[in-house]
Amino acid sequence: NGNIIDGKAVAATIRSELTIQVASLKEKYGKVPGLAVVIVGERKDSQTYVRMKRKACEEIGIFSFAADLPDSSTQDEVLAVVQDFNKNPDVHGILVQLPLPKHMNEQTILGAISVEKDVDGFHPLNIGRLCMKGREPLFIPCTPLGCIELLERCNIPIKGKRAVVVGRSNIVGMPAAMLLNKRDATVTICHSATKDMAEVVRQADIIIAAAGQPELIKGSWMKPGAAIIDVGTNPVADESKKTGFRLVGDCDYQECSQVAGAITPVPGGVGPMTIAMLMRNTVHVGGKFISGELKPGCLGQETEMSAE
Ligand code: NAD
Repeated sequence: NGNIIDGKAVAATIRSELTIQVASLKEKYGKVPGLAVVIVGERKDSQTYVRMKRKACEEIGIFSFAADLPDSSTQDEVLAVVQDFNKNPDVHGILVQLPLPKHMNEQTILGAISVEKDVDGFHPLNIGRLCMKGREPLFIPCTPLGCIELLERCNIPIKGKRAVVVGRSNIVGMPAAMLLNKRDATVTICHSATKDMAEVVRQADIIIAAAGQPELIKGSWMKPGAAIIDVGTNPVADESKKTGFRLVGDCDYQECSQVAGAITPVPGGVGPMTIAMLMRNTVHVGGKFISGELKPGCLGQETEMSAE
């Protein structure tokens, strides 16, 4: 089928580009980028994502720092780990795997990451710049960036097109909409209070589906030829699998793939791109720290100013 976007293949290409960049940093400066990955608790899905991120680091030659904390940790303990990584000159990027246990304030912890090490792009300063004309964030959140990268590498035009983003979370839907806006699409955001969503989706040349609702978007909702980037990864019971479940996206793949001009599968679409973009963010910032272009704390001043 010619309309399937192979996220796995695109991500592999990006990872091999990054492997070369890391090798040349090592040759020139004798140093490699470093990524700290913090996980709190024993959630199986989070552990899988963290394992995949660490494995990708190893493959590319990025040094990975691990902090695995128990569910019973206090917020202060997690903050202390983040502060240590903030101060460590060999750590260029810091990622805290979400969700955090319920007794912690996610925003407090994400806001404690140095802006210049915020490889997930969730710090308010990075998000703020993403929304502003004439400003660029240092980091863009990996999942939405992966969605845009897939569109661009598949030569799907964005400028002047109608885009519909389904979902408005801080980590996927909202930044995806902002990125499409920065690239001059006309963007509509749908969410759980949206009425007549099928009518809205039908206007779209580009759909980014990030609602976390299995097979929400039907083929009949789509304009023929539209591109659909499916972020959803929803476990549904499946006795034929040894895990007892399989993953489905937010669109009805059977139906939508008949109508779409381009479509990402789940799994094998956005998922591998998220990790590739995390690696790219890390290599970019690592290269800037290693070459001396970026100094620790250089952007922190702006955070303090804007907090006044
Ligand atoms: P979330 O639950 O934080 O946000 C969901 C958003 O969708 C909300 O804004 C909500 O208003 C909206 N929504 C919910 N039900 C809706 C409905 N019926 N109609 C319209 N809008 C609706 O979820 P999230 O963290 O943004 O993640 C979304 C999905 O993407 C999940 O399936 C998650 O597992 C997946 N995800 C995948 C990756 C990846 O790398 N592939 C990364 C992050 C999240």
